[in-house]
Amino acid sequence: MSIRFVHETRPQRVRFGSGEAATALAEEVALLGAARVMVITTASAKAAADRITEGLPVALLHDDVAMHVPVEVADRARQAAAGHGADALVSIGGGSATGLAKAVALTSGLPVVAVPTTYAGSEATDMWGLTEDARKTTGTDPRVLPRAIVYDAELTTSLPVPLSVASGVNALAHCVDSMWAPRTDPVDQALAVEGIRALRTGLPMVVADPGGREGREHTLYAAYLAAVAFASAGAGLHHKICHVLGGMFGLPHAQTHAVVLPHVLEFNGPAAPAVYRRITDALGGSLPILLDSLEAPKALRELGFDESDLPSAVEAILPAVPPGNPRPVTAEDMTALLHAAWEGR
Ligand code: NAD
Repeated sequence: MSIRFVHETRPQRVRFGSGEAATALAEEVALLGAARVMVITTASAKAAADRITEGLPVALLHDDVAMHVPVEVADRARQAAAGHGADALVSIGGGSATGLAKAVALTSGLPVVAVPTTYAGSEATDMWGLTEDARKTTGTDPRVLPRAIVYDAELTTSLPVPLSVASGVNALAHCVDSMWAPRTDPVDQALAVEGIRALRTGLPMVVADPGGREGREHTLYAAYLAAVAFASAGAGLHHKICHVLGGMFGLPHAQTHAVVLPHVLEFNGPAAPAVYRRITDALGGSLPILLDSLEAPKALRELGFDESDLPSAVEAILPAVPPGNPRPVTAEDMTALLHAAWEGR
């Protein structure tokens, strides 16, 4: 088979080193020449934020963050940035903090340095998301791609095990979807397969020893690979489903990914057998077995999704099914998939 593709690499510096966040962040802020930094963080990351921003020229610390970036939250952050004359944004937290920094960057063009504390991977993509009237809108824009990422696995050791698992499976979903998303190419697939391997190694270690460095490093490294693959390949069927469930029904992002992923894998897998084999080889076996061993969330009903909302979810998802999905998706298919996800593994 001949190899032919077009692959675009996004310009971004990545620093990876446990225990090195403060030094690395100071260097990145200095490289930007920033004098009035807006730090965007959540309560959970506040202690870490105070520690690693000590000595930086912080103009304001903004902790009015909410998942899926409601437009009102974005507007308040944009006003705060303008009001304080911020010249750079530093996000310290999970995908919600990164997402808010991106929303500010989208309209202001301010540079972002991201310090992630979960495995969501938003820091390595140029995708933004905003939620208005229970609908999530997403787009891509080079302005929202953080100029630099500071990865410090020690910052993730405080992430409780169930959240670590759900967030790690969110990264796994980036890998799996990247294998058949609209713009997938061999480079994305190589990154995704390596990401799956690193998650398969790291996540069981995180569960066995949440405070240990090694499992956290494997998982964080995987989160980066996963996000780079995803940013290039685009959102596949799995992400389209999860965006609707998160935006319309307010379901928690990472947990929803963990529930839905095995159903999408089983749905698409038979239509893309070679890709499916690469995924399961990298996983070292069955996804449901791995998820069970990690005690990952099992059912949408456990996450508060009401069975009576299934038809409206199906209606919203169908127009978003990506072109080139390995198999066509009918209303019956999506109803069956979502019903199985609602009921649980
Ligand atoms: P999150 O940022 O909301 O974090 C989940 C919870 O974990 C929060 O309560 C947070 O306070 C807490 N937390 C975070 N880090 C912690 C730590 N180290 N210790 C203890 N608690 C901690 O959730 P998330 O799953 O990281 O991100 C989800 C959001 O990111 C969604 O809005 C999603 O759409 C977005 N996202 C965007 C992209 C993209 O490319 N644009 C990619 C992935 C996710």
